[in-house]
Amino acid sequence: MKDYLIRGIVPSKNCRIFACATTNTLEKARQHHGLWPTASAALGRMMSASFMMASMNKNNEKMTITINGGGPIGTMMTVTNGDGNIKGFVSKPNVHYTYNDTGKLAVGVAVGNQGTLQVIKDMGLKEPFTGSVPLQTGELGDDFSYYFMVSEQTPSVVSLGVLVDDTNEILASGGFIIQLLPEATEEDIVYIEEKMKGFPTVSALLHEGKTPQQIMRSIFDDFSLLDTQDLDFVCDCSHEKMEQALIAVGKTELEAMIEEDHGCQITCHFCNTKYDFSEAELIKVKESL
Ligand SMILES: [Zn+2]
Repeated sequence: MKDYLIRGIVPSKNCRIFACATTNTLEKARQHHGLWPTASAALGRMMSASFMMASMNKNNEKMTITINGGGPIGTMMTVTNGDGNIKGFVSKPNVHYTYNDTGKLAVGVAVGNQGTLQVIKDMGLKEPFTGSVPLQTGELGDDFSYYFMVSEQTPSVVSLGVLVDDTNEILASGGFIIQLLPEATEEDIVYIEEKMKGFPTVSALLHEGKTPQQIMRSIFDDFSLLDTQDLDFVCDCSHEKMEQALIAVGKTELEAMIEEDHGCQITCHFCNTKYDFSEAELIKVKESL
């Protein structure tokens, strides 16, 4: 199955729906960053939530989400502008924890819960929109649900999941968000709560071959699809962009790179691609200052 996102509505239950399959996107991220399973689960959950949140934005604004819960994985970041492309990283890709009782990947342990989930939306205006909430569990589904409640006053069910093979390959990744519209009734809320009790994990359903639409139809009989969007892990870095970063380094630092190292290598945080600059290139950058 290719990666894609769906948006839809459920007229009878007064809610709107976002759901996505991100297995290939996460596998690509895993290969770029060398993610260990729990790091894959954390970044995968975050990327699924980021895609769905970006599809809620009206003007395809650039959206940056940063999470740091003080756990061993360090800072996590995703950037997307609602076009279906995402880039992202975690500071420490080589973390792996499981829960003793269930054997499940311990995302909450890797991420930690002493920190914040921050969302920045840049609409090209003077000031970008910034929203931030304290992390609740670090499991991320709970944390995004809390963000929607506190920052956007929208009650939401957020389900995010990643399944990793023994070989560390990604078997399934995806998620869904159910958001109650203002006209939702007490009965609508009770219906959704009842449906969610004992509901299988979204990663298990995707791994069985269920599509996002099929998962939504198993919850709501009258789920109505509005649109779909293809998803991919794509970084927009280039040799030219990295050269801009070198300009920001400043003259003294550049001189040191030229005289001591006779060149330099810059790594893109978002995709781990390495860019080499020769001594001659560095001299050109220095002279352009
Ligand atoms: Zn890059």
